[in-house]
Amino acid sequence: MTTKGKTTKTVSKETRPRKWRKPVPCPTCGSRNIRFDPFARAVNRKTSAIRQFWVCSCERHGILILTRHTDLKEAIRAWNKEATRQGRKHSK
Ligand SMILES: [Zn+2]
Repeated sequence: MTTKGKTTKTVSKETRPRKWRKPVPCPTCGSRNIRFDPFARAVNRKTSAIRQFWVCSCERHGILILTRHTDLKEAIRAWNKEATRQGRKHSK
């Protein structure tokens, strides 16, 4: 019995509707346990622009970031940008 296992079945459990960005580890201590807490929200009544403050912190360090959306993904994106920038500065 030569069973040529044609595994054309693509088990796609991992398909996500949108790209989920993982928060990069803390640039200072490398901890991957990053918390995102919405800290404060400011709305400009004239332009109705939203400013959302986030407290991004590992167990020891924290960074206050500011986004234009209340979406957590925006916070993660901002954190990644900030963390990678800091990491590059520290590495050299
Ligand atoms: Zn840290």
